[in-house]
Amino acid sequence: MVEKKKTFGIENCICAEDCQSEECILQGRETGLGKPSLLLHSCCGPCSTSCIERLAPDYDITVFFYNPNITAEEEYKKRKENQIKFIKRYNENPDIPYKVNFMEGDYDSSRFIKLCCPYADEPEGGKRCGICFDMRLEKTAQIAALMNFDTFTTTLTVSPHKDYKVISQIGKRYADIYKVGFLDMDFKKKDGFKRSTQLAKEYELYRQDFCGCEYSRIEAEKRREEKEEKERREKESE
Ligand code: SF4
Repeated sequence: MVEKKKTFGIENCICAEDCQSEECILQGRETGLGKPSLLLHSCCGPCSTSCIERLAPDYDITVFFYNPNITAEEEYKKRKENQIKFIKRYNENPDIPYKVNFMEGDYDSSRFIKLCCPYADEPEGGKRCGICFDMRLEKTAQIAALMNFDTFTTTLTVSPHKDYKVISQIGKRYADIYKVGFLDMDFKKKDGFKRSTQLAKEYELYRQDFCGCEYSRIEAEKRREEKEEKERREKESE
């Protein structure tokens, strides 16, 4: 068996001799061999779509679904199922030469609640979210180091509601601590978010309307109610 090489950022060919011929490198690219391995933390199927599309030509991707922040178990299951649905359909798409792996982290929402409940009243994007990113990125870096991945990153930056700078700082910190590469990318750039909504539609994925935790669900509900109330008042005054 050919042992997968681990030289981050350099293209390797598929053969054991590392001959670097074009044919060998191309074959390696198609199978995923020879590309740097990437553990891609994913918050949900829809957000992962455009990140995977962008990264798959250059990285051998394993999606890491680690989201104890999704406090309602039913919602967690639904998002996980849709993540798997996307990967399955992506891998079966005859027009796409790349394959993506899937890995699930442990689901223990009590860990999230313990860390974040002191900040329950913070608005989305505040301190609570920083702690939530930290929890998910530390675990991703730990697993990446433990399993000898070349690098790790997260789909979280695809969302326009999430602060790229905060996520980037956390990623870099854990890359240093666990001695593993961090792919520092703001996936919302180059219309990344827009593309994720297009692909989610194309692959018929469930798209939730709140971030994940119970606090964000309540916030989203409030926003919805306020919007409905505003529309109702506008109609009445017409
Ligand atoms: S709003 Fe989202 S990012 Fe913030 S704490 Fe809740 S699940 Fe985590």
